[in-house]
Amino acid sequence: MTDDCLFCRIVAGEIPATVVHETDDTLAFRDIGPKAPVHVLVIPKAHHNDVAALAAADPALAGKVLAACGAVAGQEGLTGDGYRVIFNTGRFGGQEVFHVHGHVVGGRPLGPMLSA
Ligand code: 5GP
Ligand code: ZN
Repeated sequence: MTDDCLFCRIVAGEIPATVVHETDDTLAFRDIGPKAPVHVLVIPKAHHNDVAALAAADPALAGKVLAACGAVAGQEGLTGDGYRVIFNTGRFGGQEVFHVHGHVVGGRPLGPMLSA
């Protein structure tokens, strides 16, 4: 738990979130500003700043986060048409919350991978 981390506070139940999937080690909840019909954030309950830090510190937990992304995609009905899992990383990557999270987005054609 990091006191000033938004997503640690969601894990602690201090800030409400619409949880759609939970395991002992991971939590998945709907993004507050969805960019697609389905937009779910998947996080490890333990605090790691970004996906590289997570994978370096605890590769097994990184795998659990990826498995949770897959489970969310399945339960949200995305596996047939496909979807995207995005880990924005650092300033150029557009990361705003420095508790690693995978964005599971889908439910419509998502267009080009990157804007111009
Ligand atoms: P990032 O830009 O760091 O990859 O993504 C952060 C995401 O967190 C954004 O898509 C933003 O909409 C979402 N977000 C920010 N604050 C909250 C919040 O309080 N609750 C939820 N559910 N999502 C949030
Ligand atoms: Zn955190």
